Amino acid sequence: MIEIKKIENIYCVGRNFEGHAKELGNKVPAAPLIFQKSNSTINFTNKIEVPKNKTIEHELEVVVLIGKNGSAKTHKEARSFISGFSVGLDLTDRELQGDLKKKGLPWFAAKSFKGSAVLDKNFKPECPKEFYLNVNHKLKQKGSLKDMIFSFEDIIFHISKIVDFKKGDIIFTGTPEGVGTLERGDQIEMGFTSHYTKKLFVV
Ligand code: MG
Repeated sequence: MIEIKKIENIYCVGRNFEGHAKELGNKVPAAPLIFQKSNSTINFTNKIEVPKNKTIEHELEVVVLIGKNGSAKTHKEARSFISGFSVGLDLTDRELQGDLKKKGLPWFAAKSFKGSAVLDKNFKPECPKEFYLNVNHKLKQKGSLKDMIFSFEDIIFHISKIVDFKKGDIIFTGTPEGVGTLERGDQIEMGFTSHYTKKLFVV
């Protein structure tokens, strides 16, 4: 396990699985679609608080930890920036996101609310190939790295053309299909298939 001392920036990739892009009626992007959450939204606890009168959806994602400062000068160099892999939930206020999209406005408020970056703090040195989310003991999302439109290297090389990374940055690398609403009382299990599972409760 890799211990993280402090999370710096949180980058997220939108529409990185064809099945998910289609389920929301979106086209697959030609380049990685990057947005951010505030680093104060990190939630390492076992509780997910759903804000009152909001419809919050789960997006299960592999989260990559950046292990050094700087930027990848080449695609080949991109891998050397990764120091660990975990799973997380990019929680999304889908109704608000829809309104903002219609108005052509940034998604920030729909993605970056209190506790919206749910994360298992146990990062692994290697990335297992599959990951999953159970809600109330039923499989809701299952992802495979081979279905990612943009690889970890593609994403890191793309972000490197925009900004420098800081050691401790993380990247939510996109959700497979099967996103859905979280309700109070839901029991969540998420993890890499056949590996450690993190259990959470929606309150
Ligand atoms: Mg997402």
